[in-house]
Amino acid sequence: MDQSIIKIINKALDGTLLTRAEIIQLLSVENLSPESFAIWQAGRQFTSLLNDGFAEVHAHIGLDAAPCPMNCQYCSFAEINGVFTEKVTYPIEKVIQDARDLEAAGANALYLVTTALYGHRAFLETAAQVKAALVTDIPVVANISDFGPDYARELAEVGIGGVYHVIRLGEGTYTNCKADVRVRTIEAALDAGIPVGNCIEPIGPEHAPEEIADLILMARDLGVAFSGAMRRTTVPGSVFQEYGDIPYGRLATYASAIALGTGPEVKGNCSHEPSQLCAQAGANIMWASRGTDPRDTTPETTRGYTVSQVQDIWWETDWKVWKGPSRYYQR
Ligand code: SF4
Repeated sequence: MDQSIIKIINKALDGTLLTRAEIIQLLSVENLSPESFAIWQAGRQFTSLLNDGFAEVHAHIGLDAAPCPMNCQYCSFAEINGVFTEKVTYPIEKVIQDARDLEAAGANALYLVTTALYGHRAFLETAAQVKAALVTDIPVVANISDFGPDYARELAEVGIGGVYHVIRLGEGTYTNCKADVRVRTIEAALDAGIPVGNCIEPIGPEHAPEEIADLILMARDLGVAFSGAMRRTTVPGSVFQEYGDIPYGRLATYASAIALGTGPEVKGNCSHEPSQLCAQAGANIMWASRGTDPRDTTPETTRGYTVSQVQDIWWETDWKVWKGPSRYYQR
C-alpha cells in the first residue's frame, strides 16, 4: 500500500482541507488497486459521519426538450447533436402530476430542469404552480440556465428551495456557456439565500485528474451544499463518441475522492446515474427521474429510476433513507 495515499486519506478524515496536489494523487490511483479501495472506504466513512448515515433521493422532472443553442456537446438537447429538432414543452398538468407522484413516493427534493429555451419568466410561473400543488415542505430546486442577482431574488420570492448549478468539465470549450458566468450564477443564488447543489460532471475517460481537481477546489471555495461525481452518458454521434463512458467502478473512486477533496463543509456527495458501486463508495444522494433527460434520445425518459429503485440502492448498500425535506436545501 502506498503510504502517501494513506497519509492523505487520514488528513482528510481529520477534517483538514487537502491541497490540489493531494486531490490529484487520490484521483490518479489505479483502478482496483488497494489504494482505490482504501479511498472508497474512507470516502464512505467520511460522508456517513457527516450525514449521520443518511442518504437521500432527489427527483428530476425535465420540463422541456429542444434544440438548445448553448450546445453543451455532451447533452442530447444540444442543437449540434441533432437529436431533438423540435421544441417539446410538457403541459403544467403533467409536470404537477409528476411532482405529486414523486413527492408521494418519498423523494426528498424536486428538481425542475429546463433547457435554455424554456424561459425564465415561464419557469417562475411553473415553479409557483408546482409549489402550490405540493402537500409537504419538499424543496423545489431550479436547474436552469444562468441568471443574475435580480432573478435569484425572484426565485427566492416564489419559494425556490435550492438551485443546482455547475461549472462543467470543458466549460466554454465544449459549451457556449462561460465558466465565469456559471460561477456568478452560483454566487447570485447563494447571495439570495438559496443553497446550491453541485456535482463534478460530466466525467468521461479522457478527463485528467488535474481538470477534475480544479472543479473540486472551485466547489469547495464556492460553499455548495453538496458535490459529487456524474459520469457522461455519451450521446451517439457526438464529439465524445470516440471516448465513450467511464465505468461506474472508476466513478466510485472519483465519488470518494471528491468527498475527501471537498472537505467537511460540503456534506453531501451525489452520483449520477444511480449506481450501487458509487453508493458503496460513499455517494449519499442519487436521482429518480421523470420527463425529459439530457441523456435520453426520447422526450420522456426511458432510463430514469423510480424513487423506490433508488431507495433499494440505499438498502443494498447499508444507508439509512432520509425521510422528509432534503437536509441540503434548508433555507
Ligand atoms: S446542458 Fe442545458 S444549456 Fe447545455 S445544451 Fe443541454 S439543455 Fe442546453
